[in-house]
Amino acid sequence: MALYVQKFGGSSLADATCMQRVAQRVYDTRAEGHSVVVVLSAMGKTTDNLINLSKQVNPQPDEREMDMLLATGEQVSVAILAMALHAMGAEAVSMTGPQAGISTDSAHTKAKITEINPERIVQNLEKGRIVIVCGFQGLSPSADIATLGRGGSDTTAVALAAALKADRCQIFTDVDGVYTCDPRIVKAARKLDIIAYDEMLELASMGAKVLQSRSVEFAKKYGVELEVLTSFDRIPGTVVKEEVNDMEQIVVRGVAGDKNQAKVTIQQVPDQPGVAAKLFKELAAANVNVDMIVQNVSERGHTDISFTVPRDEVNRARTTVDQLVPALNAAGATYDIDIAKVSIVGVGMRSHSGVAYRMFEALSANKINVEMISTSEIKISVVIRSAYADQAMNVLHDAFELGQTQPAS
Ligand code: ASP
Ligand code: MG
Repeated sequence: MALYVQKFGGSSLADATCMQRVAQRVYDTRAEGHSVVVVLSAMGKTTDNLINLSKQVNPQPDEREMDMLLATGEQVSVAILAMALHAMGAEAVSMTGPQAGISTDSAHTKAKITEINPERIVQNLEKGRIVIVCGFQGLSPSADIATLGRGGSDTTAVALAAALKADRCQIFTDVDGVYTCDPRIVKAARKLDIIAYDEMLELASMGAKVLQSRSVEFAKKYGVELEVLTSFDRIPGTVVKEEVNDMEQIVVRGVAGDKNQAKVTIQQVPDQPGVAAKLFKELAAANVNVDMIVQNVSERGHTDISFTVPRDEVNRARTTVDQLVPALNAAGATYDIDIAKVSIVGVGMRSHSGVAYRMFEALSANKINVEMISTSEIKISVVIRSAYADQAMNVLHDAFELGQTQPAS
């Protein structure tokens, strides 16, 4: 008999029928003899709707009150699921985050879990009950309800799995796992059986949004093996786990595309110490998230500096950069939103050579021009024209043969 933590997201909880489907799934796991802790998100689009409601009465709602409001979404879910399970004859009890012993820091709307005292959950499990916990919330040091940031129920599930030393942490969602690429763009995309934490983190931050990144970091830190699977079918999903040697046999695990990027270029900056420091200090102060940075070889004492930012931050970047151009003695700045970032990710890159070569050759054979490049140990990203993003993802997916069945690892 094992202990399961099963988390269900909003799209799996859209209405009463969905709730009954989830109840059946939980019921069946319990009927197999396992202990079950369930973590739920708010039903359907409830959280979005609550945020909209608040903005109608106050454009800048107080964050403590925002947490009071948003935490209600999850509370509806847990009570309804408990009732659905009772109707099936199961013993189940719902709990808020605070009742479940989840403590957080005081950063309202983006709190971090600081401690979990799972005593009450354990007592209920020992009585044979299914315990259903509100995701995304906990109790702050001042005994207020605090929420963990959008998508935070994933983190609640992983944290509970770690605290309870659960055998399995299953994240049920509306996709059946993690894919080699977005299947809407690359028809040949294939569901992965396994993926390493680090690969998942790179792919998630690239826009393959299946799990909240924070939950993956948490899982990695505490060695919680995650399974991402669909709540609509009874098929195995993708296991996210520690990297093992075998995983390195596969050079590239997945291809990601991010069309929500913009490129800023500052032209003819004097090539002197302190210039980059000043520029990026001001951008940080303006809360602009800078990603790739490229500085050209300098010519006659001047150089161009380019960097990418999320597209919805480009106006903030422009305000800062336009002000800095005269101060830096630069010639000017350009802002380009027609770009996309395409990346290949895989822990196998650590031990294989020629990966960059294969990537660039595939792009050039298809006449796709590379404008910027950045690399990490397990990722190579390029900036290209956004019109070519989908084609580039397909080309790279083919070049690394990701549509084929890979050796088991
Ligand atoms: N209901 C919250 C949200 O929509 C938390 C979650 O879904 O994980 O962000
Ligand atoms: Mg959600």
